[in-house]
Amino acid sequence: MEFDYIVVGAGSAGCALAARLSEDPDVQVCLLEAGGRDSSPLIHMPFGAVVMLPGKYQNWGFQTVPQAGLNGRRGYQPRGKTLGGSSSINAMAYVRGHQDDYNDWQHLGWGWDTVLPYFRKSEHNERGEDAYHGVGGPLNVADLRSPNPVSHAYIEAAKSLGYRHNSDFNGADQEGVGLYQVTQKNGRRCSTAQAFLRPAEQRANLTILTQARALKLTLDGTTCTGVDILQGKTRKTLKARREVIVSAGALQSPQLLMLSGIGPAGELHKHGIPLLHELPGVGQNLQDHPDYITAYTSRFKGLMGFSPVGIFNNARGLMQYLRNGTGCLTTNFAEGGAFLKTDPSLARPDIQFHFVISIVDDHARKIHMQHGFSCHVCVLRPKSKGSVTLASADPLADPLIDPAFLQHDDDMTALMKGVQVMKNVMESQPLAPYRDREIFGESSLNNSELEQLVRNRTDTVYHPIGTCRMGNDELAVVGPDCRVRGLEGLRVVDASVLPNLIGGNTNAPTIMVAERVADLIRQQAG
Ligand SMILES: Cc1cc2nc3c(=O)[nH]c(=O)nc-3n(C[C@H](O)[C@H](O)[C@H](O)COP(=O)(O)OP(=O)(O)OC[C@H]3O[C@@H](n4cnc5c(N)ncnc54)[C@H](O)[C@@H]3O)c2cc1C
Repeated sequence: MEFDYIVVGAGSAGCALAARLSEDPDVQVCLLEAGGRDSSPLIHMPFGAVVMLPGKYQNWGFQTVPQAGLNGRRGYQPRGKTLGGSSSINAMAYVRGHQDDYNDWQHLGWGWDTVLPYFRKSEHNERGEDAYHGVGGPLNVADLRSPNPVSHAYIEAAKSLGYRHNSDFNGADQEGVGLYQVTQKNGRRCSTAQAFLRPAEQRANLTILTQARALKLTLDGTTCTGVDILQGKTRKTLKARREVIVSAGALQSPQLLMLSGIGPAGELHKHGIPLLHELPGVGQNLQDHPDYITAYTSRFKGLMGFSPVGIFNNARGLMQYLRNGTGCLTTNFAEGGAFLKTDPSLARPDIQFHFVISIVDDHARKIHMQHGFSCHVCVLRPKSKGSVTLASADPLADPLIDPAFLQHDDDMTALMKGVQVMKNVMESQPLAPYRDREIFGESSLNNSELEQLVRNRTDTVYHPIGTCRMGNDELAVVGPDCRVRGLEGLRVVDASVLPNLIGGNTNAPTIMVAERVADLIRQQAG
């Protein structure tokens, strides 16, 4: 029950950290995960993502508070609840963001030249090594093994409007349209549990506790000494000789800090939690990509869909998958990508597409008994900032999540422009053979009607960050080395420390942060 390091949360960051720290045989590392082991085949077969997305299976399935910018609707916030965390349920797109997103953090010591070696260190890119990509790292990055023909038509559609093809969104230039590379190996999902933990879990100095939920951090003065946990029905206290590292994700890391008496005084007072260390920024600065999805029915039965032909295709796909790890069940659904500028004078792309080979409606919670395709468009650097606060002092309660979607007028303006760009691509000639009926009817609406439709249907594309923000100012929660400001023996390392949203998906950036902080911890420990 005593370890050198205790890592709370076995997600994208936690698995990478625990594996890297336990490379040193002289330290004892404990990794805690509230969910169970990642043994479900639905995690490993990429197609399974669509089954885990809408419900509570391997998924916390949080809801947001009502969102004024979304006409009062509650948003949905899926988060992985198993070894691998959200990397075990995500869409596997391997994206780092724009180089200048990191140069914006140069003053914190996280500029592009500093972070690139850590992206490369974590990566094994099947295309081989170059200035941007690494080989030999644990995280396998691959091209899709069996992309759908309609994803190629989507690329042609964007090209027909003058957008350039980009075969590597993580290379010299992010802009353009192409297929995503994916975190998969041999057609199977490569979560951080698979990439980092599997090779490490036999180590005698690494203890992995599943179904083990951290309830509270224990403090002695200004030093964090351990964690109170609930494993099954048993409450235990684990002691940390050196450090506790909180990696419970952007929605739950701030919750755990606040439950432990670390956070904004008013918020803790409201719930009768004794204030042990005041940090007004805990839970503030929540940022997430607001995302609108359009969809079309199609008569092309090679797209994913609910029909007798679809069931037959998937049954055949299962045989192929089991035989050689190829075929339609290796799809990550969001096969096609794009990073585009709504205004050519912009220095960086401001919108991103995820082109999906099925009809997506309300996070797959609404089923259409048809074949079809969809396209997401999201605003890459939203100005709206929300928060995570406590619903109660009960450590088993869900947090209150308020992403403040589309609260800032500029986000709505950018999203409306993005919807227009996306519709132009979707309605262009190369997709005509596959396009049948527009499901949500955007084309028949005037501008104000379209605006209402966008507010009625926009939600997350699953990238919450920023709630334990890194920085040197009063509202920062952690310093540039991810130590919690003003305390000893405590860090936060996960998507919550990112100061602002990068222009892309957040799995690879979170792993990069874990890689770098693992190095810092080892250096600082001598
Ligand atoms: C549906 C979905 C699709 C996505 N698609 C992509 C994509 O295609 N590409 C991409 O780059 N990014 C994608 N993302 C985002 C990306 O996966 C996340 O940004 C990233 O995984 C966050 O990592 P993290 O370590 O911060 O948190 P997580 O990976 O969520 O890990 C947090 C872990 O902590 C555990 N935990 C929480 N509270 C406690 C507690 N009190 N005690 C113990 N354990 C606890 C959780 O169960 C979880 O395992 C997607 C996310 C989702 C949900």
